[in-house]
Amino acid sequence: MDFVLWDHEIVFPDNMLDAYPEMRGVEYPYCFSHPLVFRFIDAKLDEFFARLPEVDGIDLTFAETHGYNLLEHGGCRCEKCTRLPIQEKVRRVIMAVYNACRRNGKRLEVRSYNQMPAHQAVMLAALRDLPKDIRIVTKNTIVDFRGTGYPDNPMLGAFPGQPELIELTACPEGSGYGYMPALLGDFYRDKIARVAAGRNLAGVALRVDYHLQYGHATFFTPGPPVMTFDTANDFNIVAASRLAWDPKSDVRQLFTGWARRRYGDNAARAGKALDRTAAISQGIFFVKGFSLLTHLNMVPHLQTIDDELKKSYLLEYFPDHPEYRGTYEALQSPSEGAIAEVVAEKQAAADAAEQSLREVAGLPDLERDFTTARNAALLWKDIAAAYFRLLRVEQGREDPAKLAAAVRTEIEDACRMEKESGERWPVYPAARGITAYDFAREVIERGKLCCISVPACR
Ligand SMILES: [Zn+2]
Repeated sequence: MDFVLWDHEIVFPDNMLDAYPEMRGVEYPYCFSHPLVFRFIDAKLDEFFARLPEVDGIDLTFAETHGYNLLEHGGCRCEKCTRLPIQEKVRRVIMAVYNACRRNGKRLEVRSYNQMPAHQAVMLAALRDLPKDIRIVTKNTIVDFRGTGYPDNPMLGAFPGQPELIELTACPEGSGYGYMPALLGDFYRDKIARVAAGRNLAGVALRVDYHLQYGHATFFTPGPPVMTFDTANDFNIVAASRLAWDPKSDVRQLFTGWARRRYGDNAARAGKALDRTAAISQGIFFVKGFSLLTHLNMVPHLQTIDDELKKSYLLEYFPDHPEYRGTYEALQSPSEGAIAEVVAEKQAAADAAEQSLREVAGLPDLERDFTTARNAALLWKDIAAAYFRLLRVEQGREDPAKLAAAVRTEIEDACRMEKESGERWPVYPAARGITAYDFAREVIERGKLCCISVPACR
């Protein structure tokens, strides 16, 4: 097995400009055109590989870089830098890292990841016709993982002649992040057999970690680290891995075999209960197919929902798609009927989770999992009702009575869940996001609801 390290470029040490003031840029900390930039990259990678010879290569990414963010910033405004298109800057860094990898006997992968259509265009140009041994890694859909219903990433297969990998998540991000079971065998089959094989991709890059427990300061759940392997989502790793070797693998057979190995004599009922989890997670975290009402599967600030509704990736990347546009407009000015439909999606998820919970009685891990899933469905039903009622109140289309009732229900449900399951997700965020109580406070404030308070849950 190879060990490849994820790397953002360009990131300089904090005191770089103290040591090399001549690198200072115009209207930007660093000048990209200064030759020290590339001497620095060369020296850094040579030193890195010398110190960690067991590393087999670099996986290079450009979005979300905290340093000299080539993809997302304009950067230095000097005459030389201004003349250089962004894709050329990105490409020069790729080639510098590639050459460093080669002279150290290592390999390079480059992620095409981007968060805006304009950046997508830059990456399409920057990654075209690179040396043939550079692998290109592209997420299954635009921007971040967003569950199972989002469209295929148009960049998949955009680099003929290059070994391309489809990037998938087994945790799975967007479908509950691993805080509840979401077994997505059919999704992996579709993405690997139809998309990866259909577009002649070379393979799959699968995220199997549960990295929020380590990577974000806000994570507070105590106890030992939990990996995807430790949860029922282990099946996602099994399914995606087997499908990567053979895209024609029968998901049903994989599932039955896996359930038998994991649950022994209880395999039939565990399997039946887990079979609903893809639909349950879809019902919780999506609103008519849009990822909405969540901050990466956590209870969100109201502003996060507003932003997602105003600037949905689906609309930004597919502006002319009539169905996305229609759904978006229906959600922006929600009718009674639209609210009822959204609430019904969440209720169906809660009912399915409740049914699974009954079926796994006596299996403690799965009882806990389906309690969590049911709680999440109920909580997001409340969040949906409160958010869309709030829009109607703000738009002057109804008085606040139904909004007040929705907030009261949300607070009561959250408190009941906390009493039952403790201070844990989904009432408390595991990373990012806010608590269900803070969400209620925000709705009360913005809806100008005068006579509701959020008591401490005791
Ligand atoms: Zn410059």
